[in-house]
Amino acid sequence: MKRPTKLTKADRELIAAATAVIKQRYRNDWQEVGAALRTRSGKIFTGVNLDAYLGRMAVCAEAVALGRAVVDLGEAGIDTIVAVRQPPPEEIDQDITVVSPCGACRELIFDYDPKARVIVPNPLPSLPRKRGREGRGAAAVPIGELLPNKYQRGQER
Ligand SMILES: [Zn+2]
Repeated sequence: MKRPTKLTKADRELIAAATAVIKQRYRNDWQEVGAALRTRSGKIFTGVNLDAYLGRMAVCAEAVALGRAVVDLGEAGIDTIVAVRQPPPEEIDQDITVVSPCGACRELIFDYDPKARVIVPNPLPSLPRKRGREGRGAAAVPIGELLPNKYQRGQER
């Protein structure tokens, strides 16, 4: 496994954008995760998850952010992407924190940019956790590191 890289200023801006969008659109049980991605051209798109009464219809925040990027720019690539979760009111002592993309989102991110960087929470114990700043304890890893032996149809790729 490649060593995760420390967050840059741009990474912390991305986490701040994801945090801002879920703070703005949080709705208990409906919108709890915010995501932000930076395209290869440097533009930031945000999204929130769309939970649904019929659970399998739920859509992740990363997919919503990617959809907004594709609508605006077409094939823009993903330089870096991050998701953060706002805890429900009963977890009042918990902060908004970076969360890992689910398995389906890992597939989606890889499909749209196999070189995308993903900001994940504290992936290796060797990375020191820093308190008091955006994305403390988080680091960036290439999407391929989160999706070894990705599904492929025959010899397509
Ligand atoms: Zn997901």
